[in-house]
Amino acid sequence: MRSDVRDFELVPAGSVREACERLEAGYKPLAGGTDVMVLLSAGKLAPRRWVDLWNLDELRGIEVRGDAIVLGALTTYTEVRRHPVASVELPMLAQAARETGGIAIQNRGTLGGNIANASPAADSPPALLAYGAEIELVSSRGSRRVPYEGFHTGYKRTVATPTELVARIIVPRAERSHFYRKVGPRRAQAISKVCFAGCVEHRDVDISAVRIALGGVAPVPVRAIAAEHAILARQPFAQVQHALDGAIAPIDDVRSSARYRRRVAANLLGEFLADVGLAS
Ligand SMILES: Cc1cc2nc3c(=O)[nH]c(=O)nc-3n(C[C@H](O)[C@H](O)[C@H](O)COP(=O)(O)OP(=O)(O)OC[C@H]3O[C@@H](n4cnc5c(N)ncnc54)[C@H](O)[C@@H]3O)c2cc1C
Repeated sequence: MRSDVRDFELVPAGSVREACERLEAGYKPLAGGTDVMVLLSAGKLAPRRWVDLWNLDELRGIEVRGDAIVLGALTTYTEVRRHPVASVELPMLAQAARETGGIAIQNRGTLGGNIANASPAADSPPALLAYGAEIELVSSRGSRRVPYEGFHTGYKRTVATPTELVARIIVPRAERSHFYRKVGPRRAQAISKVCFAGCVEHRDVDISAVRIALGGVAPVPVRAIAAEHAILARQPFAQVQHALDGAIAPIDDVRSSARYRRRVAANLLGEFLADVGLAS
């Protein structure tokens, strides 16, 4: 049954500091609201006190630094798609942004919300994992920077405490070949069955790193580290695929079967290797 909005309190934050004080007092953060409103509509929203982050310019904007692109937590998908540097240098993230929901969701949904909401089927986490991103968290006690790898600790759980906000996403700049593919029931307005992001970083002509990340195939977005090592060791495809298979733990659910997800993950691995010129 739909919730009655009169049962909820929503206060705008005038600053990050004020927002953090609200979190200390037990409020929950609201960004674009695109995940929260679905729960509200379904009558499944348990927290009653919310602090609205939307007007916090401190959490907005995309900053291009010498070694990294820094995205404020309130960066929307539309802003990623339209940014002249982020859309070119971070094509996997730009593609995730293009394929997230429809235009209305892209205008309102934020990267910080996507990460904090911690859905295993979300579309930007595999791209951010493959880029080797870091997350800046802020609270009344200060700020800390954590690797995005390891940020998700279990289904809908993260290392962030209830009194911390996701403030910024820091993505290192590098020379990369990339591959991103979202597989869902249709091309738009679809939740992923499997999402694959892979990139190869180069130093001069040598490969300096391979990173592969997947969504929709485990309780959290996962890095396939053993598969990356197998690729760097130039092992045959069957061994790379075996390593990838060991990194994922898909389930049967309303969207797909575990068997289908394993098959799709293997197929996308093959496409990735062919695409970046590493097929054996
Ligand atoms: C029709 C529809 C289609 C969608 N399609 C997709 C899709 O294709 N792919 C996809 O990945 N997602 C999709 N989503 C989910 C959603 O749009 C995204 O997850 C979006 O990025 C959430 O961001 P938000 O700002 O709206 O988060 P909100 O709804 O405001 O918040 C979500 C959660 O994150 C917390 N939160 C928000 N910001 C912060 C912060 N800065 N720090 C700490 N906690 C925070 C909130 O407390 C809440 O628990 C879809 C949703 C809808 C309704």
